[in-house]
Amino acid sequence: MEEFFKGLERMEKIHIPGLEALPQHTVVLEIDEFLLGLDSLTPIQGQLQIIHQGNYLQVSTEAQAIVTLKCDRCLQQYNHRLTVEAAELIWLSPESDAAVEPNLEIEVTLDDPVETLSPQGYFDPQDWLYQQLSLQLPYRQLCDQNCEGLMEEIAQQVEQPLDRRWAALESLRTQLQHEI
Ligand SMILES: [Zn+2]
Repeated sequence: MEEFFKGLERMEKIHIPGLEALPQHTVVLEIDEFLLGLDSLTPIQGQLQIIHQGNYLQVSTEAQAIVTLKCDRCLQQYNHRLTVEAAELIWLSPESDAAVEPNLEIEVTLDDPVETLSPQGYFDPQDWLYQQLSLQLPYRQLCDQNCEGLMEEIAQQVEQPLDRRWAALESLRTQLQHEI
């Protein structure tokens, strides 16, 4: 059991039977760390609660971080405050590794557990939190709603040499007019 608690401090994988053996079948993890794969300026901070409910895990979190994103328009990096408030039920099924019975009719509503884990297996809080945070990432990443992006810069770059050529042509024409 001591080993079990040591792992919890570092958001390591949680052995599901160990969780069930706890008096309240519950662990609350204090989150204050960077997550692999998520480019964040600050560590992710918040809480993650896992309750063993017999045949399912009830997992919930409230967390936030400042992540570094790349603007879709101007390609500049910018900071974005990411907050997540999520809850999910994870079904514990011994057959979770096996293929789901195709003839089994299951009515899936939003509240029903859709993910499954083996009751003898592990729950990975880092991976779960990463998924929840990823879901909160904006579909369109813009440094600013009014970002003009590269379009203006490209337009200027294209216009300038043209202007110079027109100017050269213009001065040539003036020169010719004077000579005539
Ligand atoms: Zn931008």
